[in-house]
Amino acid sequence: MNNFKHKKSLGQNFLKDETILNNIVNAVDLKENDLVIEIGPGQGALTKKIQDKKVNLICYEIDERTKPYLEKIKESKTNIIYEDILQVDITEDIQTYKYENLYVIANLPYYITTPIIKKIIDSNLNVEAMLLMVQKEVAERFCAKPCSKNYGSLTIYLNYFYEIEKIFDVPRASFNPVPNVDSAVVKFQRREHKFNVLNEDKFFDLVKDAFRQKRKNLKNNLGNYDLNKIGDILSNYNLSLTNRAEEIPIEVFIAIANKL
Ligand code: SAM
Repeated sequence: MNNFKHKKSLGQNFLKDETILNNIVNAVDLKENDLVIEIGPGQGALTKKIQDKKVNLICYEIDERTKPYLEKIKESKTNIIYEDILQVDITEDIQTYKYENLYVIANLPYYITTPIIKKIIDSNLNVEAMLLMVQKEVAERFCAKPCSKNYGSLTIYLNYFYEIEKIFDVPRASFNPVPNVDSAVVKFQRREHKFNVLNEDKFFDLVKDAFRQKRKNLKNNLGNYDLNKIGDILSNYNLSLTNRAEEIPIEVFIAIANKL
């Protein structure tokens, strides 16, 4: 494996810890008729573990220098596409597959963590669950609860679609080369019962506007909205326009957006 020159610019920190690799793939109940999308297989450490589950597998890898490693381990139910995940049409790539559940599993390239997740959501693929290795601080932002400093519009956006939990931390020494950030694996589980939002665009606009200036309260950030209506709804939850967005749970934003 090791004349390979890892590219920092592509987030190439490869996993070398067998226990971590096993714990990732065992965090969902993969069945032979499921389809898994792996983003960034690298030299195939995680790919091998996914293949052991006998699932259908599509991998997207931007760096063709990994081809000799990946072609060597590739099994018959695996398809490797050497392209930039942000440029491909995933819906088209998976359309010929018949499968029970769709999963995304990845030790992500950290420089594009959020664009990748947004792409998966925007592609409307009906993903059952995602297991994603991300930077630890980012994991905390994804899972943050109201009134914590990490809670923001991204937290609400992602939690609208998925129940998100950090399943374990991953020490730096589990990677080669050793990165200079800590990592964690998060599980995104598709929400069984989606929230009742009348207009998603308006809801996401409201949330984004409410967080526009983090230190300001709702009255300041939502000056262009009907503040009387918003104040009425907030009072039902013992909140007011003097609260900041970071103190407002997702259900309250939904109640406001539905009323406006
Ligand atoms: N899965 C391997 C592992 O766990 O050892 C490698 C993970 S490494 C953190 C991230 C991988 O994503 C690298 O192989 C890198 O080349 C690939 N990558 C980076 N940018 C990408 C992109 N835009 N599209 C697809 N793959 C990308």
